[in-house]
Amino acid sequence: MKKIALHWKILIGMILGIVFGFIMTSIAGGKDFVSDWIKPFGTIFINLLKLIAVPLILASLIKGISDLKDISKIKKMGLRTIIIYVMTTVVAIVIGLSIVNVVAPGNGMPQETIEKIKERYSSSADVTDKLDKAKAQNDAGPLQSLVDIFPSNIFKSFSEAKMLQIIFFALFIGISLLLIPEKKAKPLVRFFDSLNEVIMKMVDLIMLFAPYAVFALLANVIVAFDDTEILLKLVAYSACVIAGLLLMVIFYMILIAIFTKKSPVWFLKQISPAQLLAFSTSSSAATLPVTMERVEEHLGVDKEVSGFVLPVGATINMDGTSLYQAIAAVFIMQVLWPEGLTFTNQLLIVLTALLASIGSAAVPSAGMVMLVIVLETVGFPAELLPIGLALIFAVDRPLDMCRTTVNVTGDATVSMIVAKSLGKLRDPKPKDWDDLYDKVKG
Ligand code: ASP
Repeated sequence: MKKIALHWKILIGMILGIVFGFIMTSIAGGKDFVSDWIKPFGTIFINLLKLIAVPLILASLIKGISDLKDISKIKKMGLRTIIIYVMTTVVAIVIGLSIVNVVAPGNGMPQETIEKIKERYSSSADVTDKLDKAKAQNDAGPLQSLVDIFPSNIFKSFSEAKMLQIIFFALFIGISLLLIPEKKAKPLVRFFDSLNEVIMKMVDLIMLFAPYAVFALLANVIVAFDDTEILLKLVAYSACVIAGLLLMVIFYMILIAIFTKKSPVWFLKQISPAQLLAFSTSSSAATLPVTMERVEEHLGVDKEVSGFVLPVGATINMDGTSLYQAIAAVFIMQVLWPEGLTFTNQLLIVLTALLASIGSAAVPSAGMVMLVIVLETVGFPAELLPIGLALIFAVDRPLDMCRTTVNVTGDATVSMIVAKSLGKLRDPKPKDWDDLYDKVKG
């Protein structure tokens, strides 16, 4: 029998999870059953991915940098990566702003609906939690984000999964390895090379569990949803975000065709398991190991490029999130503060959404925290902030799933372009996900 491709298995798991979630919502006690007995399997899966993310970044980056053999190449790669990331993010924000201004989903929202949403969400713990987090971030000094890149205790960075700190540490080791005699560097390089291989295999093994895990994750998303009525009122807003995200994917496909001369459809097919996981977990950080595996083994990007571009991208390149922030900020202003929608403010949104998406953590709903900062920068009245967040809260999770998918696709696209420009894109030699599985099973 022909083996079903992994992305189909994951897709089937997702659909069954959604159907199961709906069935459980209509059964007495079904919601509790899902959160007590189904959701934990999704959590285990995410834990496993997070477990290997830190050693994977460390191993692949140190190995990759030491393979580059030339510090000027590292500079070139770093510069190109950052410039392309910033450019794609600006495109995303401009797409978002154009759509939300043309469609104007917030104009004419009935007062009664606003009141209902306000009552339901504005003092909910989730909304106040986002506001508190945004305040803490805002209170820090202007150079705090720079200071935060340099760790004083790497074990603390590991345990808190501080990506940029870990990337800095790995680069530091990688560059120092290049500067010592090769004979002395070799044992450490070989150690990280071997660690990298082992972790890649761990990704394969974890992915065998993916179809079941996405079932659990999506069933839980469905039962956690309880306000279909409010959801319907936000259809126009959600449609704007989704349309913008789709345009972004088309934009990536054009970039792939132009800069790498590869087929965009082939690209999407190869990266699809990572996209489906991004959608199911709403976390580019948790998806990172799979993104790296797909990009290296299935798209043919060399480790030295993917090991740098992807972890950096998961942290600072969030095109989906920045597009969402632009649309959400303007939508909230259209509903609650239309007089604030000046041209200058929209330009300010471009700038702050760019910085905010760089500063957003790669975890579920981080984009919403940064949205508060975007709104504050344009002078949005503080007393309206909880209502503003409440407005978009009901649809945040599904939109988070979609924007995370775009974030991951963007990182993969840029890694292909950077690799091509450095001559580090080769023909991939795809392995099966479960290659050697029989041997592992014993
Ligand atoms: N969940 C997104 C990510 O992990 C961030 C966000 O937009 O909330 O990429």
